[in-house]
Amino acid sequence: MGKTAVYPGSFDPITNGHIDIINRGLRIFDKIVIAVGTNPTKSALFTVDERIEMIREIIVDNSRLEVATYSGLLVDFLAEVDACVILRGLRAMSDFEYEFQLALMNRRLDRQIETVFLMTGSKWFYCNSRIIKEAAAFGGSVRGMVPDDVLMRLKEKFPLMKENNGRKRNKV
Ligand code: ADP
Repeated sequence: MGKTAVYPGSFDPITNGHIDIINRGLRIFDKIVIAVGTNPTKSALFTVDERIEMIREIIVDNSRLEVATYSGLLVDFLAEVDACVILRGLRAMSDFEYEFQLALMNRRLDRQIETVFLMTGSKWFYCNSRIIKEAAAFGGSVRGMVPDDVLMRLKEKFPLMKENNGRKRNKV
């Protein structure tokens, strides 16, 4: 049996930063279960079904990737899918504090579990779902930060979103 990792998150929506971590993870693990958290207290732009559809559109033919939802304790979900590794991505230092607390809590809840952190590609350092949604809501283009399918769905939610960011750079 191969090594399975669970990559949990809200994926609201999935971004190129998430995809970068999935691709890096595939170099290490045999299988990755992308686990979309269904936290009713967290307000989301996309429904869980929409988030899953977007992920499915991206991972189409890869038999080493699976997408699922979970609610409740992540460690219980890991037991369900018979995995003992949590995959997380790290961006700036600001991620570190929270991720550290989360990893320690999960380890406390289940001693069998290890959290593996992968460093994001430098291109995706500032790529996060929240900032992408904010920029799109105000009409800014987020092309290049999300896959094309996701871009289309964002355009449906935010019709004012520009196709490209306009102004040419001035010469000095
Ligand atoms: P976000 O933090 O963007 O709302 P999620 O809650 O869906 O995203 O995050 C799931 C996991 O993916 C977390 O470990 C998060 O740090 C990681 N992640 C999100 N965006 C990136 C990125 N641009 N590069 C690397 N990891 C990322």
